[in-house]
Amino acid sequence: MSLSEITSRIAKCEAEAGRAAGSTTLIAVSKVQPNARVDAVLQEGHRVFGENRVQEAAGKWPQFRERYQGIELHIIGPLQTNKARQAMELGDVIHTLDRPKLANTLARLAQELGRCPDLFIQVNTGEEPQKAGIAPSDTDAFVKDCQALDLPVAGLMCIPPVDEEPSLHFALLAKLAARNGLTGLSMGMSGDFERAIALGATHVRVGSAIFGARVPVT
Ligand SMILES: *Cc1c(COP(=O)(O)O)cnc(C)c1O
Repeated sequence: MSLSEITSRIAKCEAEAGRAAGSTTLIAVSKVQPNARVDAVLQEGHRVFGENRVQEAAGKWPQFRERYQGIELHIIGPLQTNKARQAMELGDVIHTLDRPKLANTLARLAQELGRCPDLFIQVNTGEEPQKAGIAPSDTDAFVKDCQALDLPVAGLMCIPPVDEEPSLHFALLAKLAARNGLTGLSMGMSGDFERAIALGATHVRVGSAIFGARVPVT
């Protein structure tokens, strides 16, 4: 699918859901993609990108930022505390605030750096043991704890279980966000971004549908 095809599908979903045009941000997930493919999407005028790994982002985005104005980089992968500083320096938004220890580290670094990227709290909506994220039942308390640390919580993020209907998870995430007064919803990937927009996604994270299949890392 081309970038323009995705953006027109997003516009169509927004209209069908009775949402304002442009109320969904498309994050082009460029992890593991060759620089030439990323460059082509930048050439088309897109400026919002997502990376999974801090190391990879550090090797790629400072150069692109020198060449293109207005890049907005989203860190969307699991974040080790020892990479938090680098993630905060590189990223405009971090989607994976998933545990109290990381919240404390980000709060301390925000003091030191005098700034903090916008943050999404990752919720483990499927309560999968192998998956990162705050349990749905702990989310209200965790949001309050993060706000008490003065962290800029923009919203909630989820990655639904692969074998379940994602809409149930999107609806749960939307409910948790609404009852905490949060407006940001980071949900929806290549296979389900249209369902996510129908349920209120403000940020969809789309990789392979834009760039083609990822070349596996060896
Ligand atoms: C890779 C990734 C995506 C994009 O996945 P696609 O299926 O390629 O669209 C979205 N979100 C996260 C957290 C990812 O790691």
